[in-house]
Formats: sequence, structure tokens, C-alpha cells
Amino acid sequence: MSRSLHRPRCLKRSTRKGNLMKVISAPYYFKGGVHPQYRKDLASAFAIKVLPLPAKLTVPMSMHLGAPAKPVVKPGDLIRRNQLIAEAGGFISAPVYAPAGGKVAAVAKTQSATGAPCDAVVIETDPNAESVSLAALPDWRQVAPRAVLNLIGEAGIVGMGGAGFPTKVKLSPPADKPIDTVILNGAECEPYLTSDHRVMVEHAVQIRIGAEIIRYVLGAKRIFFAIEDNKPDAIAAMEKACDGLETEGAIVKLPTLYPQGSEKQQIYAVTGREVPRGGLPMDTGCVVENVSTCYAIYDAVVNGAPLTHRVITVTGNAVTTPGNFWAPFGTSYRELIEAAGGLRERAAKVISGGPMMGFAVSNLDLPNGKTTSGITCLAAKDLTQFASHACISCGRCVEACPMRLEPAEISQFVEADDIDGAKDACLMDCIECGSCAFVCPAKRPLVHHFRRAKGVIRARMMAEKAKAAAGK
Ligand code: SF4
Ligand code: SF4
Repeated sequence: MSRSLHRPRCLKRSTRKGNLMKVISAPYYFKGGVHPQYRKDLASAFAIKVLPLPAKLTVPMSMHLGAPAKPVVKPGDLIRRNQLIAEAGGFISAPVYAPAGGKVAAVAKTQSATGAPCDAVVIETDPNAESVSLAALPDWRQVAPRAVLNLIGEAGIVGMGGAGFPTKVKLSPPADKPIDTVILNGAECEPYLTSDHRVMVEHAVQIRIGAEIIRYVLGAKRIFFAIEDNKPDAIAAMEKACDGLETEGAIVKLPTLYPQGSEKQQIYAVTGREVPRGGLPMDTGCVVENVSTCYAIYDAVVNGAPLTHRVITVTGNAVTTPGNFWAPFGTSYRELIEAAGGLRERAAKVISGGPMMGFAVSNLDLPNGKTTSGITCLAAKDLTQFASHACISCGRCVEACPMRLEPAEISQFVEADDIDGAKDACLMDCIECGSCAFVCPAKRPLVHHFRRAKGVIRARMMAEKAKAAAGK
């Protein structure tokens, strides 16, 4: 994050004394949730290190939700750092920029962390290559919100805390859904991961400015910074950075409880508003943005930097020196693990992300992307072997479910291949948090069933859409 080592240019100094943005405890508690072993101590105290530039980057074209980006470069092209290498592939998509200058070696197939195939632009990097930037708007308050929003879209920013939904689309609610509240999500409730934590500790001022930019774009009234209480240094850093911020809102100290970082649960914990079944956060007048996304918004608007890097936690008991790395997209998991001193013992399981919502990976040559917040390398002692048994109807999964679903019942529908029954039992409201499977004494593979059934429903919907389009 070398660009941010300088004092941000547009930080407005307040002449008022005292902090207008107070730290408060969460006013509401959502139902359910669990307490897994967090193990954040492995990496949370280690400052972000800039990863040395890899000789080769394999930059995926699918680092976001929606249509893949379309490459606009070809093998042999000489490119500069921050140059556009792929344009957005549709309305729900995002462009991709070169994290480093050099030569395009290939436009080839790669795999995302979920195992899905996608195109990638392979760059042989040149540390001496020139760099370009977007047209920054350091005086963003002096231009129309629409121009700021367009720059956020142009910079290729997507939600970096979850599925990678394009941020420009998220910040463009329809006119009948006015937004009055912006929530900056610094909960980072996923065990082991500390990338958002370190961004808040080290770049709190930039996050504050990013939050003000979001509020300006949306015309919202209030800003809340929502942070779990297991990150007291991040809460203190945000409190200091927000000194003199004259806006309605607060720094909300959330109790440490998984999945506190989930949008719907967080909106309730902070505002008491409930997202209706099948609805979206905007239905409550709220927009939730992850703090690393907020940093990216700051960097794009104030510095003209497109999204090409992010902070990744490399952690787990199998890693020699866990830490947090500022890494370009397209770096392989293998290189990231080597940057953390390599493996000190064989990793029994490598997870893209954390153990609750991440994906186990077997190929360490996978490239990181916009939503890769961590790589967790678990040692054999961290894993327990177990067999799945029949449901004993204990009801623990129902108690743990933060979406108030009946996981055992939905799972039974899926196992009987009654996908419509599962849908009627509100399968699509499941946020795949894994709390039900975590508490299940019979070790039922509940989330596995839910993901499979959702895949079937989505495939059906796409087929129906295609059929309707063909019939036109
Ligand atoms: S994975 Fe789905 S069903 Fe299970 S606890 Fe989370 S939201 Fe509820
Ligand atoms: S927790 Fe497991 S065993 Fe208990 S009701 Fe739910 S699925 Fe069945």
C-alpha cells in the first residue's frame, strides 16, 4: 500500500474539539450464530507487508459476480502498470487493470478458487515498466456524485469482503429505494482472517474518507463503522481517524459472534432494521460496504488508482510465519505461502478464505483475485476426522441459524431430491454461513447440500431465461 504511506490529500481538518463520532455498543442482537475458534492471534499483530513483484501474474477475468471481463490485450503486447487489460463484460461486471507492467505472455484458461474455469491474462512482469493512472477526483465534493460513481465503476471496484458484487451497481439503488445509512463492515468474523483488521489499524483515515465518498454518492445521512470487539486496536484507530467527522453515526462495537459480518445480520445489529425475506439491504435504506472496498474507493477517487492489489492474510498452523500481504492480483497461492516463510509442516487442508465460508483448494497454482481475503493452511492437528450420521432431530441447527431457517428440514428435502420442497422451505434465504453444520452433533454436510440445491435452482432459472429469450 505504498501509495497510502503519504498523508491523504483531501483530509479536511476540523476546527472543532472533541469526537463527534462516538464508540457505542451494538444496540441489537441477531438471533443464532456460533463461536468457532477464531485463531486471529496467528496473524493479527503483523503489519501489512508489500509482496515482492512476482515474475509472472495470471490475472483472472472472473474476480467478481456477474459476467466475466473481456480481454482487450493480446499476447506480445507491452503494457503499463494500471493499464486496462479487460473491459466489463456486461452491466453486472467489472473491468480489470494490469497490476504490473510488462509483456502479455498469453490469454489462457485458469481456475478460480471455486474450481470454475475462467480466462486469464498472463503477464511477464517488468519492475521498470511505466505506470498510468485514472483521472482522479481529489476534490470529489466539488463534482457531481454521478461522476464520482462513474470513477468507482471505471476503477473495477467490487465488494472485497464476499462475492465480489460490482460496487458501482451496489451504489446505484433505484429512485424508489433511497439510502439514508452507510455501514462500513469491519466485523471480519471469519476465523483466522485478519486482512480487514490490518487495513483498519493501518489505514483508518483512508477508510474514513472512503466512507464519506460513499455517503456523498448515495446522498445518505448516517455512517456507521461496525467492528467486532475482538479488534480493540481497530476500533481505537477508527475512533481517532473519525475525530471531528461531523456526521450522524457511530463506531459500533459488535459482540464477537459468527456471522456478525453478514450484511443482513449486521444491518439488524446496527439499526434494528430487518431485510425482508427475499429482499435486499437497500430495502431497509442501508448500504453495507466492506472496509477494504472502502479503502479501494478512496484510492481510486483520491489517487486515480484502479483496483489491482489487495491485502491477503496467509495463515494457519501449517504456515511458518503467518502474516498479511499487499499482493497484486494474479499471484499464485504458492508464492503467497512462500512469502509467509513456506509451510513448516504438510498442510492437511488449504482453504481459499477461512474455515467457515472458504473453499478447500488442492491446486496451489491458483491465482488470487479481488475477493481473496486469505489463504488458511491447516495442520493435521487442526482437523478432526468424522463420519456423518442420521439426523437426531436435536434442533441445534435451528437455534444456530441466523436466518431463522430450519436447516434439518431443508436438508431432508434436498437429500430426497425434492428441490422444490427445499425452495418452499426458504432454501434461497440461506447465506451459507455454515453455523448449522458447525453445531450439528451428527456432522450432517448441510451446507454442501444447500450449495448443490441452489446450483440446481440457478441452473433451472438460467435455462428458463434462455428459453424465454429464444422464444422472443
Ligand atoms: S448455512 Fe444457511 S441454513 Fe445453515 S445456519 Fe447458515 S443460513 Fe442457516
Ligand atoms: S443439528 Fe444436525 S442432528 Fe440436530 S436437528 Fe440439525 S441436522 Fe439434525
